[in-house]
Amino acid sequence: MKAILSHRRVSRKPPTVESRLVRHETGTPEETEAVGAELARRLDRGDLVLVTGELGSGKTTFVRGAARALGVTDPVTSPTFTIGQVYGGGALEVAHIDLYRLRSLSGEDPALLDDYLTPERIGFVEWPEIAAPELGRPAARVTIEHLGGDRRAIEIE
Ligand code: ADP
Ligand code: MG
Repeated sequence: MKAILSHRRVSRKPPTVESRLVRHETGTPEETEAVGAELARRLDRGDLVLVTGELGSGKTTFVRGAARALGVTDPVTSPTFTIGQVYGGGALEVAHIDLYRLRSLSGEDPALLDDYLTPERIGFVEWPEIAAPELGRPAARVTIEHLGGDRRAIEIE
């Protein structure tokens, strides 16, 4: 039995790092929330999602949809007095960081992000470019773009 199992393991192809780009278009905030929820169902403990896009593109809306799907019932809004917040309510805690007002991490406590992003939580970061090297490898990169009016393009890598 043992021999069969180990044979199986050896003959299996080595895992490849898969990078796939999926594009959605939405016409309402609810549709953007639904795209966030769809991504959330594929996330696991410790996963990090970077969400890029201009002000008002829908980053927080996307995170709200994802957080709801992960069981968060508290209101999901842009953190105002801190760079982030942690939501409970689901099986896993959800950390939500918005680095917009920070400009850069230089001069900040290096452990700033660690207060929020832990191996036990699922993390979402708006304006990740501000902390790019410190954030490490994400499970997904989300880019949201205005297409005029309420239309948005959402790319998930
Ligand atoms: P960001 O976090 O990127 O600054 P928010 O999610 O806070 O953006 O705000 C997006 C705004 O755009 C909200 O007022 C939302 O209602 C509005 N909106 C209109 N259409 C959409 C859409 N298709 N997807 C997301 N937000 C939309
Ligand atoms: Mg926001």
